[in-house]
Amino acid sequence: MIFNVASAEALHNAMQKWQSEDFEKAIAWLFDQANDAQVLELATFACTLRDRIYGRRIFMRALLEFTSFCQCNCYYCGLRSEHRQLERYRLTESEIIESCKNGYALGFRTFVLQGGEDLYFTEERMTRLIKQIKATCKGSAVTLSIGEKSAATYQQYFDAGADRFLLRHETADPSHYAQLHPSNQTYEQRMRCLKDLKKIGYQTGAGFMVDSPGQSIKTLAKDLMFLRFFQPAMCGIGPFVAHQKTPFAQFENGSAKHTLILLSLIRILLPKILLPSTTALATIDENGAIEGFNAGANVLMPNITPILKREHYTLYDHKKNSGTEGAETFLQTCRMIEAEGYIADTRRGDHIDYC
Ligand code: SAM
Ligand code: SF4
Repeated sequence: MIFNVASAEALHNAMQKWQSEDFEKAIAWLFDQANDAQVLELATFACTLRDRIYGRRIFMRALLEFTSFCQCNCYYCGLRSEHRQLERYRLTESEIIESCKNGYALGFRTFVLQGGEDLYFTEERMTRLIKQIKATCKGSAVTLSIGEKSAATYQQYFDAGADRFLLRHETADPSHYAQLHPSNQTYEQRMRCLKDLKKIGYQTGAGFMVDSPGQSIKTLAKDLMFLRFFQPAMCGIGPFVAHQKTPFAQFENGSAKHTLILLSLIRILLPKILLPSTTALATIDENGAIEGFNAGANVLMPNITPILKREHYTLYDHKKNSGTEGAETFLQTCRMIEAEGYIADTRRGDHIDYC
């Protein structure tokens, strides 16, 4: 029996009272000592709690990587501004609307606009875009993933109709945060943004890379404590994957096993959370998308970026951009999801507290 508890609910209840040391012990044991059957038991608990709330639905979001320009310099990311040889692109406003219309015709009702922090997309342009997508793709949700902005800008995008915002906290340990970012990108600023987003009323997403350089059992325990405190509506976690043109080129890729264990722990900690099975997981593990669902995830984000642009959005080496990641194989992906006993659901798929 895992952690001496008899049911998924009992583990969920126990985890609400865990201190940092309890999380540390649990993570260390799961990573290093638990056998396959014990990890499977954890995953089964996670799926039980998820299924009680969302059933076997996997929410499908259309991901549009609309600009690869970025003013930031995160040490881990291939889009960092100091990667000067990168061939960058930004979609025009009409390309963005066209891509969303194509996604809408496939059935998607959530559009995730993701990109670097690109100053070309001024408040005025972004506001116009959000309004246009909401007017053209009726009944759809818009998720933004465009980095750090002022509270006033976040408010303006929310008022224009944006529903959700993904901004990973990256790590809940300030000194680890400083290992991953240059000194002008601060932990305090990231936390301020997350707080503002939630206060404004966005379904807010936090998250972190698994096995990022400098991460430890202690920092992971802090991540889980932070998630319990912040109660995000969404959480994006995927393995760190090295990019050869970043300062972290020499670090090893993160582990799929660690990612799956953390997906299960997060689901049990916060059963209502929307939890994607990420591209990074599918990149390092051929069957990663399904393994993510079997660990407790319930979101997939097929890519609707025009295919010729998509290959330049290289956060890390060998990033997967076809197969389950591409919208062109959408029907195949839905069949694959259904063959595993899930339902591919393209509706808005809001967090249960926001329905
Ligand atoms: N620029 C926005 C931001 O940073 O929030 C959105 C796009 S950014 C590429 C989205 C996420 O990609 C980041 O939060 C980060 O966790 C993840 N990412 C970046 N580089 C990565 C890498 N080398 N391996 C895995 N994930 C990575
Ligand atoms: Fe820019 Fe986001 Fe990459 Fe950081 S993670 S360099 S903010 S695209």
